[in-house]
Amino acid sequence: MEKKRHTWDLSEFYKSIHDPKIENDIKIIENFYKSFSKKYKSLTFLKSDSALLAALIDYKKLLEKLGKIHPLTYLHFFQAVDQHNEKLEPLIVKYSSRLTKAYSEMIFFTLSISKLDQKRQDKILKDKKFSEFKYFLERLFISGKHALTEKEENMSNLFYEPAFGMWERGVEKATSEKKVNCDGKEIPLPEAFNKLTVLPTDKRRELHYKIMTELKKDAHFATCEINALYNFKKIQDDLRKYKKPYDATLESHEIDEKTLNSLRKAISNNISIPKDFYKIKAKMLGLEKLKYPDRVASVGEINMKCTFEESCKLFTKALDNFDDSSDPKLGSYSDIFDNFLKNNQLDVYPKQGKVGGAFCAGGFGHRTYVLLNHADTQDSFMTLAHEMGHGFHAEFSKTQSVLYEGHTIAVAEVASTFFERIAFDEILAKASPEEKKILLHDRLQDDVQTIFRQMACFEFENALHELIRKNGAATTTEILDLMNKHMSWYLGDAFELTPEDAYLFVHWGHLRRFFYVYSYAYGQIISRALYEKSKQDKSYKEKIKKFLSAGGSMTPHDIFKSIGINTADPKFFEGGLKSIEGDLSELEKLVS
Ligand SMILES: [Zn+2]
Repeated sequence: MEKKRHTWDLSEFYKSIHDPKIENDIKIIENFYKSFSKKYKSLTFLKSDSALLAALIDYKKLLEKLGKIHPLTYLHFFQAVDQHNEKLEPLIVKYSSRLTKAYSEMIFFTLSISKLDQKRQDKILKDKKFSEFKYFLERLFISGKHALTEKEENMSNLFYEPAFGMWERGVEKATSEKKVNCDGKEIPLPEAFNKLTVLPTDKRRELHYKIMTELKKDAHFATCEINALYNFKKIQDDLRKYKKPYDATLESHEIDEKTLNSLRKAISNNISIPKDFYKIKAKMLGLEKLKYPDRVASVGEINMKCTFEESCKLFTKALDNFDDSSDPKLGSYSDIFDNFLKNNQLDVYPKQGKVGGAFCAGGFGHRTYVLLNHADTQDSFMTLAHEMGHGFHAEFSKTQSVLYEGHTIAVAEVASTFFERIAFDEILAKASPEEKKILLHDRLQDDVQTIFRQMACFEFENALHELIRKNGAATTTEILDLMNKHMSWYLGDAFELTPEDAYLFVHWGHLRRFFYVYSYAYGQIISRALYEKSKQDKSYKEKIKKFLSAGGSMTPHDIFKSIGINTADPKFFEGGLKSIEGDLSELEKLVS
């Protein structure tokens, strides 16, 4: 593989952020909305089924046209790798508000359909002529139950940026500009977080408290920000008659509360798993008690090179070992990955001003982009596999129409963790017995973080919403206490937490994205099941592709049902967690 710059090539969109084509495209979108709205504003299309069908076909065409122009996507991508660029924020705000305003003229269209009377809804859903739109309409009718009037929907859209987006980005920007001193060198926060894993205990703890000291400086501001965001959400939920803080999230993920509650219950019933794991981990680290940053500490290195180039080679091999069959359009998994590299769809290394963490962004009508902060660790290798799992999902889902190409977050994490597991087994296969101990620890730690930590975060978030709803606002101390209470819930007695540890809330993006974290736990347990099935049955690989190609054409429940997994069975999640206990007792044996 030829050595690349490994920074995004965004030239498929525009030449630069000053490209006059951006302004031009904004105008084109505004005009699309305007003429569509003019054509249908009289609502006569609702009068007969044939007129409604014609309007829906027209609407789909509009979405296809819009899918070819991406001014805001481009600016957001640009900002993710260059948050210091002061020219960007005003551009984003200006264009977002113009597009929001233009879109507001269209809201009546889906809104009026969503409010059709029940009898008409039932009739349409049974009508074969609407079959292409059936699932789209089903979701629309569900959303209609919580929709406001057109005027209110418009106001809510217009308020979203100043009441939410700009606050959230403000805190993100402030923390990404922070630096801490590590071994005499000033390093940006995202890099410092990465370093915690590999440093020896004393230095790890020292660096952790330096990071927390930096975050603490912004704690009052972040408290105001969180109170503003959570109150904004409360106002929205009240108006829309969502009872519980997480109801709107579940609806948008197309997940029912029964499924969520059986997941919560299964995790709560098995909360001894992470606690037992950390007791073993303390033993492995030779420590009496663990401090908060020790939870991510490495227990040893395996003999593996994790430079980005090496990671790519190994990942390619893992993909081919799993399934090297070729899709007529996309080629094999490793072909898709190779194309991502060739086209510079990955932005690989950390740098100042770049957002921390990692993500993958797909979308209709443009390439899929992956952002990493690769730090040459085994973790970075796993992150590459995780984000590329999203990447494969996005690519295979392109077989769906514009209505169904996007999939819900709940399904997304199944794809990503599935490919993580494939990558992991590639390392495991080559490991010595001593290395297997380390790897078993790493796999358990990943399960603990993805399943138990994320659900602890979910419960923390829920409690914080409840507190703010009851008292009007939360104080910094209340946020810190609540966070540590929920982190202790899964970390257990092996840990000694301090109030300082909880300053992580200043930086923790999850808290601002309302409840989506449960989907990590949900996804991890399902992907374990998929992985077991594809190991037992070679032909199951085709079903994996079926799942990856399903996009958002059905509910997650129906997608998994179509490949033999029943998430409605309350025993399903319990069973998934029991299988982790097997790993745990194996590690315990190896350690003692
Ligand atoms: Zn993910």
